[in-house]
Amino acid sequence: GSDQPHAAGDLKICVALRKRPISAKEVARKDHDSVTVFNPKVTVHNCKTRVDGITKYLDSSDFQFDHAFGDVDTTARVYAATTRPLVPFVLDGGRATVFAYGQTGSGKTYTMVGIQRQCAEDLFRALTAAPPTRRGSAGGAAAAAATLEVYVSFFEIYGGRCQDLLNRRHRLDVREDGQGDVHIAGLEEFQAASAEELEQLIDRGNRNRTTHATESNDTSSRSHAICQIALKEAGGGGRLHGKLSLIDLAGSERGADTKSHNRQRRMEGAEINKSLLALKECIRALDSGEAHVPYRASKLTLVLKDSFTRRAARTVMIATVSPGASHADHTLNTLRYADRVK
Ligand code: ADP
Ligand code: MG
Repeated sequence: GSDQPHAAGDLKICVALRKRPISAKEVARKDHDSVTVFNPKVTVHNCKTRVDGITKYLDSSDFQFDHAFGDVDTTARVYAATTRPLVPFVLDGGRATVFAYGQTGSGKTYTMVGIQRQCAEDLFRALTAAPPTRRGSAGGAAAAAATLEVYVSFFEIYGGRCQDLLNRRHRLDVREDGQGDVHIAGLEEFQAASAEELEQLIDRGNRNRTTHATESNDTSSRSHAICQIALKEAGGGGRLHGKLSLIDLAGSERGADTKSHNRQRRMEGAEINKSLLALKECIRALDSGEAHVPYRASKLTLVLKDSFTRRAARTVMIATVSPGASHADHTLNTLRYADRVK
């Protein structure tokens, strides 16, 4: 069925770095660019930074990833190298997940919104060009002729709770059934008949996220936003064929809110810390082909269970960093995290 191994040369786990350009505001307050990208390498230069009010001197450090993108690289380029190869993979019945990981303000949403748009276009272009075949499936020629329908759902995990971004933040329950399948009870799913419809639905989810952010002191930096595009067999009773998950993670620095004086913040920080650690462990387990994937360790990894436990699963991690020396400490934390994923 859909447990086909991925094509030779394709990466099961792909880790990319993206550095955003320094902003006018940062230049104005005399922050300076401390990150150099020379694809696929990246260097954080020795610099002075302030951590918890204390001045620290950081040594220069080098990292290497599958790809490294700098100021001049467009989202289209990032997409082409990391995410575009996942489209045929998902059309072939695979489970693919793309994560944007990084400090708040480093470009996660900027990157993810662009990727969502390009995915919508490529997916429908591929679907209208040639109906996919289901290689090796029991249905043979009949199944090969079956076409696929596109559905989208969009929810966020905030403080360990799931809320529907396409249905007024309706609270959702996550359950694992006796078969080991994870269900998100009450999650709305919308069918999209064209790339435009799919983009409109995704925009709606993104808007629901940011509207809320301005209302309550930047909630979006403390939530994981999970956009899932499901391909289902038309007339197949809604049987799931392939799935692409596009995830804008909570700000990685929020995991350190465990020292905050605010109890709510502390709890949210602990939850974020737990989920990002669990995510790293799950990706590592997927990469090494370990039988035990610790997906139950957090809500985030639990809802992604089928994307970690299937043989036909691929993951892309895009680590985003700010260039400023004032952020060097967080930048190094992001690079170390990305480095340990593989
Ligand atoms: P995050 O989601 O990680 O908090 P954002 O995506 O909101 O960060 O980016 C912070 C700011 O930087 C935004 O104003 C965004 O438009 C800008 N930005 C991020 N990445 C880039 C980029 N590659 N090129 C130009 N501007 C960018
Ligand atoms: Mg964001």
